[in-house]
Amino acid sequence: AKKNGKGQVVFCSGKMKKDVQEKMMLTSSLYRALEKHELTLHYQPQVSAESQAIVGFEALLRWNHGELGPISPAVFIPIAEETGLINSIGEWVLLTACVQNKAWQDKGFTPVKMAVNLSLEQFRSNNLEAIVRASLKQSGLEPRYLELEITENIAMRESDDVIPCLHRLKSLGVEISIDDFGTEFSSLGRLKDLPVDRLKIDMAFIQGISQNSKDESIIAVMIHLAKKLGLKVIAEGVETEVQLVFLRDEACDEIQGYYYYRPLSKDQIECDIYNISTP
Ligand code: C2E
Ligand code: CA
Ligand code: CA
Ligand code: CA
Repeated sequence: AKKNGKGQVVFCSGKMKKDVQEKMMLTSSLYRALEKHELTLHYQPQVSAESQAIVGFEALLRWNHGELGPISPAVFIPIAEETGLINSIGEWVLLTACVQNKAWQDKGFTPVKMAVNLSLEQFRSNNLEAIVRASLKQSGLEPRYLELEITENIAMRESDDVIPCLHRLKSLGVEISIDDFGTEFSSLGRLKDLPVDRLKIDMAFIQGISQNSKDESIIAVMIHLAKKLGLKVIAEGVETEVQLVFLRDEACDEIQGYYYYRPLSKDQIECDIYNISTP
């Protein structure tokens, strides 16, 4: 036990010490991960509930640490956010995702949207709009094929000038969706002021299908709300046929989840999905 600044005794267990050391280690290697090309993007297909055609991809970061192997985004994204590294990483993600989507279009594949996740820090950095604009310009991707995913938590913030920034992004012609929808206590009234195109129903609700009738009711209401507001709606984390059938019956537009596809590397997408008819 040690004394902290206030003279109180605090305990630092071996486990805590190990966690802190591990985090410091990850933090320092994350600084170099971009230049060492340890970061890559995987792409998870999004499917039309009606036609089952692929209508988009979500770009998801992967970190293959030189010594430790793959590190989950749930671990390193928060570190990237705390250190501000998410700004340079996020810039790389935007450009890479746009370039990849344009490359697939140039190969003759049906144009679909590419969704990219944004962190709050990127809104605070004041140059998000310029970065999005530059990614579009440099890749040559038409804006309507880029979608920006912001969490409900970001979208509902009163401060940080998020809303004006969203309007400026929207006027570039990109699509905007609200991620993890339903997980925050948001004021539904604010939805009408947000320049958004799509709600993404959080996986937690999808897991309740056939388990919890309250989750089912909430999903039905969220889909209904989206339709009434003229928004599209996508369900994420769909793993079973039962979940799919429920969502289709409720007229959910799009489906993302392991039932159809896991996040795949560029090569896997090209071989498993696009190469079906090539010699
Ligand atoms: P998210 O944006 O909510 O992404 C969905 C997560 O659910 C992904 O986890 C995806 O692999 C996973 N998933 C998709 N379908 C299923 C399913 O059917 N079942 C289950 N159990 N999981 C499914 P992942 O790739 O580990 O990413 C975790 C989080 O890390 C993301 O959550 C997002 O918040 C963050 N993240 C990932 N890439 C980026 C990025 O480029 N920028 C930022 N700012 N955050 C990112
Ligand atoms: Ca997302
Ligand atoms: Ca999500
Ligand atoms: Ca999430």
